[in-house]
Amino acid sequence: MAVGCSFIQVVSNDTPTKSNIVFVTVTPEPSLTLSEGKRFKETITPEATSARPYFADANELGQVMVLEYHRISYPEDRYQRTPDNFRNDLQRLYDQGYYPVNFIDVVNGLPNVPPGKKPIVLTFDDSDISQFRMLPDNTIDADSAVGIMMNFHYQYGDDWPPHATFFVLGNDVQDNIAIFGQPEWAKAKLQFLVDVGMEIGSHTVNHTDLSVATAERIEWELAVSKHVIETLVPDYTVKTLSVPYGGFPFTLDFLKAGNWGGYNYSYAGNVAAWGGPSVSPFDPTFERYKVSRLEISSTWMDHWLTYFEQNPQEYYISDGDPNRLTAPRLEIAAEN
Ligand SMILES: [Zn+2]
Repeated sequence: MAVGCSFIQVVSNDTPTKSNIVFVTVTPEPSLTLSEGKRFKETITPEATSARPYFADANELGQVMVLEYHRISYPEDRYQRTPDNFRNDLQRLYDQGYYPVNFIDVVNGLPNVPPGKKPIVLTFDDSDISQFRMLPDNTIDADSAVGIMMNFHYQYGDDWPPHATFFVLGNDVQDNIAIFGQPEWAKAKLQFLVDVGMEIGSHTVNHTDLSVATAERIEWELAVSKHVIETLVPDYTVKTLSVPYGGFPFTLDFLKAGNWGGYNYSYAGNVAAWGGPSVSPFDPTFERYKVSRLEISSTWMDHWLTYFEQNPQEYYISDGDPNRLTAPRLEIAAEN
């Protein structure tokens, strides 16, 4: 398979820090462009992080939604969102002031959310082909999740950076569960996601229920899946995990670090399969290895977007300053 080249070149980032703007130049690449004549723009700036005015109405103790998607296809059902419904989800989120981040950003305390923005995480489990499909003419299917998100980013630029987390199955051998369903494209797709700024996490090797697995099997799944991804994407470190079926091993210690056959692994965070909106990473009850998600259906999207529209004080709003924690003052009535 000969599509391992780098599609994106980072320029102007001597020692990148949170406060630097990192300019990313997308090199037009005939083998990874969007279908239907939608081509990459020549330059994108994924994060505008230079100006960070303090935002007084921030609430960094508010809740954060981590959305859970599976397939983007027809018809709509519990594990399948149609392309049009997914586009509508993005539009509603954008219109209501949400700003996409990767799951690892939540674990790290949401350092890169612009002032006044509400962070939201889009996650995709199972590395299904409908999340990232290459068409016979070697273009990205504009109706796959990646095609839809990239086009949405081109429409809104820095206000909607290409951030999302893909929890992939680390099996690049078996065709039936190969990463994104097209084994010959697995490496190029993963590299593309990393290059544009998205996150790749592990969903184990074989979609194993860790709640009933032996210790050795758990460590094999967690070590090998990470190793497979990192072999396909050199210089990338897999940091997060989504346990299949929401099945937790008998001790969370397995998720944090372990070893199998000489492969050491560690993970910084893990998502649950359900649970609703997550508490803020700064909330004392936040558990980085059990972060709640919202399984996405039309009903749940409507419910929670409406809920936070009516109760905006309950959602996380960034102050734009990674070194300051801002939350509304707790008003206590004076007694006398
Ligand atoms: Zn799954």
